[in-house]
Amino acid sequence: MKITIVGTGYVGLVTGACFSDVGIDVTCLDVDSAKIENLRNGIMPIFEPGLKDLVVRNMKNNRLHFTTDSSEALKGKDIIFSAVGTPSTEDGSADLKHVVDVAKQIGESIDSYTLVVTKSTVPVGTSQIVKQTIQKQLDLRGVNIDFDIASNPEFLKEGAAVSDFMSPDRVVVGVESQRAEDLMASLYKPFMLNNYRVIFMDIISAEMTKYASNAMLATRISFMNEIANLCEMVGANVNYVRKGMGSDTRIGTKFLYSGCGYGGSCFPKDIKALIKTAHDKDYTMEVIEAVERVNDRQKTVLYSKLVNYFGSESKLKGKVVTLWGLSFKPETDDIREAPSLVLIEALNKAGAIVRAYDPIISKVNLDCEIQYFEDIYSAAQGSDAVVLVTEWKEFRLPNWPRVKEAM
Ligand code: NAD
Repeated sequence: MKITIVGTGYVGLVTGACFSDVGIDVTCLDVDSAKIENLRNGIMPIFEPGLKDLVVRNMKNNRLHFTTDSSEALKGKDIIFSAVGTPSTEDGSADLKHVVDVAKQIGESIDSYTLVVTKSTVPVGTSQIVKQTIQKQLDLRGVNIDFDIASNPEFLKEGAAVSDFMSPDRVVVGVESQRAEDLMASLYKPFMLNNYRVIFMDIISAEMTKYASNAMLATRISFMNEIANLCEMVGANVNYVRKGMGSDTRIGTKFLYSGCGYGGSCFPKDIKALIKTAHDKDYTMEVIEAVERVNDRQKTVLYSKLVNYFGSESKLKGKVVTLWGLSFKPETDDIREAPSLVLIEALNKAGAIVRAYDPIISKVNLDCEIQYFEDIYSAAQGSDAVVLVTEWKEFRLPNWPRVKEAM
């Protein structure tokens, strides 16, 4: 089987590397020539545990190829995946520019039957736009080439992306033909030899499943953050409460950790897109809108704690405040929508001196001064406050007397 993955970001690169590892011939196509050149030299654009070994091994075995040449990459393939970005637009809806560009290129290039699969997170109905765009290009070319579309939303977690892809809880596939279902079934079979977990459905339901899943996870986070805030006010320990709740099998233990709000490239934009889809249908998703509001408020919680501790915002002026962790969660270098950014901007506005240490991130692209350090103790040296922002493992049990001495 020969496949192409368009878009070599978190999702595209992990998908391509994992498919190649089970013996499939994979071409990864991207418009970013520097990224492609680096990948050919074994340099990863992202930090993701296990990814580099996988990429280098499969490149060596000639099963994984990287290119910027779309006309070649999109010809003669059994399946083409589209895994390009779908960022938020100003009104909260998902920007489908890249998705439509890719569909156009596919329509301009395919020369035989191809299954075109959307892996990006896209609003309900987008796969039909993809289908129409491809057909329009084929009509313009005056050719009659058979193709199918499918929706295969991705559920991997950054930080555990390779293991999630290799051993998924489930794979959701939306199809509208038996031929597409058969192709997708054989593609995923190597990942599920013992326990087959591909769930086939219609395309619209598959598109919706992705948003519903992310909305549920974000809801659990915002719910738990509200419980944690109230626990603090009444003197309860949210960790006991979490254990007590989570051991009820109807609730379960996952995604019940309170913190400083969700970030990353998915939850914030997917929640916005879901709210917008509902508005377009004159419907208000009351729970989901509250989830977003709670999260925006939660991102200011660490700053409020500092203000309370020092007495007022003005007292933060000139104080040295150190952030432990910058990424939006551990085991990733992804900083998109991270709570750390909100905290840094607020501290900067208040005139504090901002320091940071993150196990992976050595710099963030913000228009304010940040002093970076190479370990937790040197970062804490002379600080008035240390703020734990990201729960990297190395922050779990630091040498507290040493931290105290350093501060
Ligand atoms: P990303 O921004 O990391 O990567 C997108 C890549 O697409 C970039 O390398 C970009 O250069 C490339 N690209 C854009 N237009 C192109 C074109 N016309 N031709 C070829 N390449 C093109 O994005 P990502 O984080 O991998 O997310 C991709 C999609 O998957 C999004 O819809 C996202 O919501 C979804 N998703 C992401 C995650 C995650 O954890 N990051 C998880 C599940 C789903």
